[in-house]
Amino acid sequence: MYPTSPDKLLFTPGPLTTSATVKEAMLRDLGSLDRDFLATVRNIRTRLLDLGPYSHEDYECVLMQGSGTFVVESVISSAIPRNGKLLVLVNGAYGRRIAQTARVHGIELDVFEVVENRKFTSELVAEYLFSRPGITHVAVVHCETTSGILNQVEEIGHVVHRAGASYIVDAMSSFGAVPIDMEASHIDYLISSANKCIEGVPGFGFILVNRRALESAKGQARTLSLDLYDQWASMEANGHFRFTPPIQTLLAFEQALNELDEEGGVHARGERYKANHIALCRGMKDIGFEVYLAEEDQSFIITSFRYSTNPAFRFTDFYEKLWTAGFAIYPGKLSHESCFRVGSIGRIAVVEIEALLEAIRRVLRDMGVHWVREEVG
Ligand SMILES: *Cc1c(COP(=O)(O)O)cnc(C)c1O
Repeated sequence: MYPTSPDKLLFTPGPLTTSATVKEAMLRDLGSLDRDFLATVRNIRTRLLDLGPYSHEDYECVLMQGSGTFVVESVISSAIPRNGKLLVLVNGAYGRRIAQTARVHGIELDVFEVVENRKFTSELVAEYLFSRPGITHVAVVHCETTSGILNQVEEIGHVVHRAGASYIVDAMSSFGAVPIDMEASHIDYLISSANKCIEGVPGFGFILVNRRALESAKGQARTLSLDLYDQWASMEANGHFRFTPPIQTLLAFEQALNELDEEGGVHARGERYKANHIALCRGMKDIGFEVYLAEEDQSFIITSFRYSTNPAFRFTDFYEKLWTAGFAIYPGKLSHESCFRVGSIGRIAVVEIEALLEAIRRVLRDMGVHWVREEVG
């Protein structure tokens, strides 16, 4: 129940708690031309497409060194031609970061921003998109980890397709646990990373990409190291990353994919996370905490809870005391509301959620924040 290692249990948006066997897979030294390693790279690229499943004829998988943001930057700085124009749908910090990336690269940009507790639906996007000519690419975050809101990427995809634009989805915190039909959603670029729902360790991300879109990105990258087309061309030619690959991270990731299969795949993983989320929300509401989002907009990936209004509640104390007890939760990232976040993803199950809830009750008692709900009533 309590962590058997000195490490905290991570209830965060990633990096996450991983299994011992995933960590053990890293205990090797391999060169970047080693045959075992090249087989691992091939295997990972194939199996990521199989998770969709996405047809190997129409889609490609490109791996890119770096954290998730590097991988998003690779797509934004490679996909949009010099005469293109990007629309970014923003309802949180990760959407805002995509817009900022485009600005850094001098890409012509339109930002449609709504409040952080409002999800993007097809109606909302259609109204905006059809009144603005010239948009060639649309980018949206699937699960906006800022709040935990889930944008309707499939329905939005139909609108983007009707507008004749190319579609980029940051599915960093949802891929591997929430099924995403790239073809039905008309997604050209689907982005995620090693240390989220696949439960690997940090160090690289991946792009599942429509082959036609990828081929059109040839020669238009604005950076050398994040050139998506060149990275793909190199992987196709000889299986190589162009520059030093995160070898141990890739070995761990292959093991993480084995464990995803053993669990029963994307659906089963989603079910475990959903059970975590339900147990968490039930327990937190019992204690007296309020969930920030409306239930129908909330993902099972991460949940924002409003601070207690009890004067004895100070988040930094709450956070520190939980940390000392072995539990890492996450500060809020919302612009206008005081919330903290608790993730339901990683190698954790309901038993760990119950342990966290028990620790939260104890910490609140320690702080003199007695049952918030009783005080309200
Ligand atoms: C985690 C995450 C990222 C990437 O963040 P890094 O810190 O660069 O790994 C991007 N978008 C979303 C929605 C995320 O949850």
